[in-house]
Amino acid sequence: MRRISIFGATGSIGESTYDLICRMGGAEAVRTVALTGGNNVARLAEMARTLRAEVAVTAHEANLPALRAALAGSGVHAAAGPHALIEAADREADWVMSAIVGAAGLVPGMRALAHGSALALANKESLVTAGELLLSTARAHGATILPVDSEHSAIFQALVGEDLTAVDRIILTASGGALRDWPMERLAHATLAEALAHPNWSMGQRITIDSASMFNKALEVIETREFFGVRPEQIEVIIHPESIIHSMVGFNDGAVMAHLGMPDMRHPIGYALNWPERQPLPVARLDLAALGQLTFRAPDEARYPALRLAREVMEVRGLAGAAFNAAKEIALDHFIAGRLGFLQMAALVEETLSRLSADSRLGIAAESLEDVLAMDHLARIRAGEVARELGGG
Ligand code: NAD
Ligand code: MG
Repeated sequence: MRRISIFGATGSIGESTYDLICRMGGAEAVRTVALTGGNNVARLAEMARTLRAEVAVTAHEANLPALRAALAGSGVHAAAGPHALIEAADREADWVMSAIVGAAGLVPGMRALAHGSALALANKESLVTAGELLLSTARAHGATILPVDSEHSAIFQALVGEDLTAVDRIILTASGGALRDWPMERLAHATLAEALAHPNWSMGQRITIDSASMFNKALEVIETREFFGVRPEQIEVIIHPESIIHSMVGFNDGAVMAHLGMPDMRHPIGYALNWPERQPLPVARLDLAALGQLTFRAPDEARYPALRLAREVMEVRGLAGAAFNAAKEIALDHFIAGRLGFLQMAALVEETLSRLSADSRLGIAAESLEDVLAMDHLARIRAGEVARELGGG
């Protein structure tokens, strides 16, 4: 039986992955090695019991007694904390879902690759912070990285059987998020609840806000550059409010291959789960006549400084991705806590990057995970200082 693990099982991507695995037959169809979560211990325990996991891990030590109690008599081992996450990633599995949110997902994903697992990568932060290391680790251990981000799954599928040298450009679609149609002068005052009202996708809190600010698309542009090895100028972004076309690849003969479908993450997750085969998936079928039309517009870079910052990060490369992501995570923490305004997030990231480039190791290529984690740490400190100056306490 195939051995699987889900890192971030209790999140939005984790729940969808769990749903698909249960539909495949659950514990009768796969052997579950590890499931991990955060504070939702009751849900983690329920999933672990249903799939008869070897181990369930909560990221937070303080949750261990509650997790132990919830798993009493189940035969599932309970563990907690960052070391337990690594220990779980060191348990051999054939297929691992990387769906922890943020830079915290990097280390477990790396470990899974070092064990030669197929890594279904929802955690785009891994590629943004440590793209080259991740790919070289996969190569060295014969491991496969399967993109789960809907855009990257779309591109991956459009490239099946194609020669990468024939690719002219990659067109990433963006829904534009919750505040897409707001006038610019209102954006500064956008509240958390307003930024969370995503029109098409139901996702975790952090990525939903990143969609509204376009930081999500900025991360995805870098993710595209790292994963597919294309040059930055080959990557375009287009606003497509309906989220039906998940992305496109343009070839040297003028052909453009698009991947279409209803917005449901169980498609890209299921594609990664069944790869290299296709299997039936419980996703709604596309009815183009009912949709009537698909629309597009060019993104305004003045409105979305995150896209410009992504271009700058790709120019510097090296550790700039790690700094960018860390500063973005701090900016998001402050916005969620109500300490910074919506537009101040980009201002904070830009100022943090400019200070880091002054003392600068930004352009140096990471030789190890430690280099990445050190830059992540430094950028969080700098971003915290900038946040205080911006009034974010
Ligand atoms: P989420 O917030 O719903 O879930 C995150 C999961 O990670 C939870 O299980 C949580 O307990 C765990 N977690 C949070 N902080 C942690 C930490 N410090 N250490 C260990 N575990 C921690 O997030 P999500 O929306 O499912 O997104 C997960 C990842 O997938 C992100 O990288 C996101 O960008 C990416 N992604 C999500 C979607 C989507 O539709 N939700 C689409 C594309 C990509
Ligand atoms: Mg995406």
